[in-house]
Amino acid sequence: MNLKKGNSLYSIFIINSIVAVIIFILGIVIFFNLLFFKINKIIDDKDLQLHDSKINYLFMKNYNDLNISKILSEGGWIEEIKDGEVVSVQGVKKDKKNKYEIEDFINEESKHKKYETRMYKQGDKLYIVKIPNYEEKLVNKIYANQNGKIYIIMSLIFTTIVVSVMFLIVAIISIRKISKPLKILENEIIKMSEGYSNISVNYNSYKEFNRIKEAFNSTVSKLEKSEKEKDIAQDSKKRMIRDISHDLKTPITSILGYSKAMLDDVVTDENDKKTYLNYIYNKTKRINYLVDELFIFSKLDSPGYTLNLEKQDICEFLRELVALYYIDIEENNFLLDIDIPEESIYSMIDTKELERALGNIITNSIKYNKSGTKIFIGLIKEVDNVCIVIEDNGIGISENVIEKIFDEFVRADESRKTDGGSGLGLAITKKIIKLHDGDIKICSEVGLGTRFDIRLRRI
Ligand code: ADP
Repeated sequence: MNLKKGNSLYSIFIINSIVAVIIFILGIVIFFNLLFFKINKIIDDKDLQLHDSKINYLFMKNYNDLNISKILSEGGWIEEIKDGEVVSVQGVKKDKKNKYEIEDFINEESKHKKYETRMYKQGDKLYIVKIPNYEEKLVNKIYANQNGKIYIIMSLIFTTIVVSVMFLIVAIISIRKISKPLKILENEIIKMSEGYSNISVNYNSYKEFNRIKEAFNSTVSKLEKSEKEKDIAQDSKKRMIRDISHDLKTPITSILGYSKAMLDDVVTDENDKKTYLNYIYNKTKRINYLVDELFIFSKLDSPGYTLNLEKQDICEFLRELVALYYIDIEENNFLLDIDIPEESIYSMIDTKELERALGNIITNSIKYNKSGTKIFIGLIKEVDNVCIVIEDNGIGISENVIEKIFDEFVRADESRKTDGGSGLGLAITKKIIKLHDGDIKICSEVGLGTRFDIRLRRI
């Protein structure tokens, strides 16, 4: 899972904002370039080029030497001032200043930026001459020019179009990166209604979408797995019902046959009658055994079932278990080897059920091996666990059976002989160990023997 791949939506938002600002600045640059291009053209105007020298030329030393008509033609005007107030104006006054303070006269040049200003004293009269300066004249020229106005509007429209197109391209690229994975996800979700196979989304987008992709794919694979497990469980249920029917049907058919023969007085000889009754008894015993095993298995398998756990000395428990099977082992001429520590090691166990679980393993060793086989029962103390070892040096179990040995109704004898076990013994054992939160492992080799390691948590 590579979640580092791709940018996050947050960083993309930041990048897009930066791109938007860059585009905006670019728009401003384009607009002002276009504007200055026009201004440069106007500046080329000779009339304007000469402006500065003209203005200086117009401002004479004495008021009487002023060329008033020239001043007026340059857009200037002359104000007559009395007691600080404008009393008369020659030409068109373009500013709104009608009163002057003493400070206005001290630094008048810097104060009136739009207009070049000079003051003249003529007798007791004071005159102020104002001529628009270069910048003011340039602005007036641009505004007065009809083409200039259209040019500015066109420049604005052009800049707006360029900026909008760029914004649109950026937006389309971003939206496509979002809409593409959403479309893929939508398609796969629609496909899911037909099953979980072949469902997988593959795209490379922003971090958040890549995370959704990983989560989606992992959920789908989990669903697919559980679907398969459901199918396997369904198959195993079917197989179980088939095997139960088979195992029960065989003795029932025999009982039906023998009892019918007796009812129909087919068997007249007293000895034969006894043999027939013996058959019926044995077959009934077999049915009883199968039903008992089935009952135990379904009891352990039911969801509400809980063990009756108690703190027990597991070494003592094992010694008592060996004693319980000792006669069986002796009678069948098996050799017994025991290695159980003398100390007390405690574990939480359900004595009755653990006895059943381990008893199944010991019974199997006796049931499936020849006399003279050695059975070893031992206990190893581990850090957190106790390991109970039950081992024999008997016939062993073939590899193909071993992998499903703990499944229900699995028997090494494929023909399912009616005198064999139920095939439920080790399934019951595993269930009990699992209910103890323990673990069971089998190791077997044909001709060498079988070993079970059962681990339970120590307390
Ligand atoms: P069953 O009720 O048939 O004994 P189990 O689940 O207890 O069923 O055992 C499954 C099969 O494993 C048995 O049918 C037997 O063939 C084989 N098996 C179990 N334990 C041993 C053993 N110690 N030695 C050889 N075969 C064994």
